[in-house]
Amino acid sequence: MLNVGDILLTPGFKMSKAELRTLIGHEAQHRAQWAVLTVIGGPLAFPVAYGVDDFFFPGSRNHFERLAGLDAGRYAHVGTGPVLGPAQFAVLGALAAIIHCRGPSWRPASACFGEISQPAGRLTA
Ligand SMILES: [Zn+2]
Repeated sequence: MLNVGDILLTPGFKMSKAELRTLIGHEAQHRAQWAVLTVIGGPLAFPVAYGVDDFFFPGSRNHFERLAGLDAGRYAHVGTGPVLGPAQFAVLGALAAIIHCRGPSWRPASACFGEISQPAGRLTA
């Protein structure tokens, strides 16, 4: 199921009107979340924040889904903590390397990537 603004994309609605009303209420919570994050960070803030959250906290662990109501969103409760697999560790490792290499502004970038030197006597434009 995918919520794009006021449009709900789903393979089918095999549910009662009461269940559908509950699900629409859940999706309306996402619309409010989208609106708040758009005001704070621009129109892509919600999809980016949701995507990052869902990468580490997929499905019912996702904080936006929890705030919108797991039962109303028809989620099975499977846990609350992050899921740390190879992909998540790879992303965290890359972020740690970037943060380490950028370091404080007084440290030259060469501290991480090696000194780039020009051969003696060569001029560059
Ligand atoms: Zn949802």
